[in-house]
Amino acid sequence: MSIKGDIIRLGQIPDALLEISATELHRLFPRPALIHLGGDRAEPLFVSVLLHGNETTGLAAVQALLKNYASKPWPRAVSFFFGNVKAAREGLRRLGNQPDFNRIWPGTEMADCPETLWAQNVYEEMARRGVFASIDVHNNTGRNPHYSCVERLDGPSLNLGALFDRLVIYSPHPKGAQTGAFALACPSVTLECGQAGEAAGVGHAVEFIEKCLRLPEIPRPPPPPQDIELFHALAQVTVRDDVSFSYSDPAADLVLREQLDLLNFTELTAGTVLGHVTPRHPAKPLPLIARTDDGRDVAAGFFRVENDQLALTQAAMPCMLSMDERIIRQDCLCYLMERIKR
Ligand SMILES: [Zn+2]
Repeated sequence: MSIKGDIIRLGQIPDALLEISATELHRLFPRPALIHLGGDRAEPLFVSVLLHGNETTGLAAVQALLKNYASKPWPRAVSFFFGNVKAAREGLRRLGNQPDFNRIWPGTEMADCPETLWAQNVYEEMARRGVFASIDVHNNTGRNPHYSCVERLDGPSLNLGALFDRLVIYSPHPKGAQTGAFALACPSVTLECGQAGEAAGVGHAVEFIEKCLRLPEIPRPPPPPQDIELFHALAQVTVRDDVSFSYSDPAADLVLREQLDLLNFTELTAGTVLGHVTPRHPAKPLPLIARTDDGRDVAAGFFRVENDQLALTQAAMPCMLSMDERIIRQDCLCYLMERIKR
């Protein structure tokens, strides 16, 4: 075991990794860990898991793959990266004193810190090894179908996304995400595998990673339009810092509509009500912020408050709507998307 740049590097699998839970993983890896395994084709597939400590599908998928290949050669070299083991111990996306491990990668707008430095090292090490493709495995906290996110619209990126599912989101925001960094070195994709703990998400991720391991190359011509439904994430919606919100507390400034996450990937019409504000809360400023890729707040174009109701002013399709109030504060309420016609 060698320690460089504050992460753990290994060239083989510790036996205990095969069964360990995400909450116990810190006993094996007290810091983020990178494991390189050889295979028939030399350029490695890079798979990162647990960049968000509560998103455990990636760990379960890696464990299933390690068992599948315990006594047969990997068709291609593979490098597994285990991210926020400290937050995983607590079942949290990140700890209060940590940056978000999916905002620290090259291209980030954060100032240098230990996490941005090891992320840079991991990226450079994989680029030096001629990384074949990059897969970052995540979960949603709300109910969503499985989908992938790409940060580029070129043929290889879209083919990689289409190999996972027909739903693909083009989301070049926010900066410093793993997928955006690796897109400079290889086709790169984020998998959103439903909610943590669902067996179907693990099975889907394993099947996809095995397909990638067996691929001799990733085709360059983009997939035919009928093979994917492509969306552009127009804006990330957050609740204004000085606005209290809740699904259950009627005294909050903003009370969100029950079962909001059932609206994910639904084409909502103008006028759809998303919640209500307490009468003492003024209609302006709006309780929500909607940031575009270039940082503009376009909330006024999407939302209005009328008779204390928060509603859409135009048709929109949300994804990643969550019922977890902590996650909404740490990350966002949702993304708003438009369909990309090809
Ligand atoms: Zn995540």
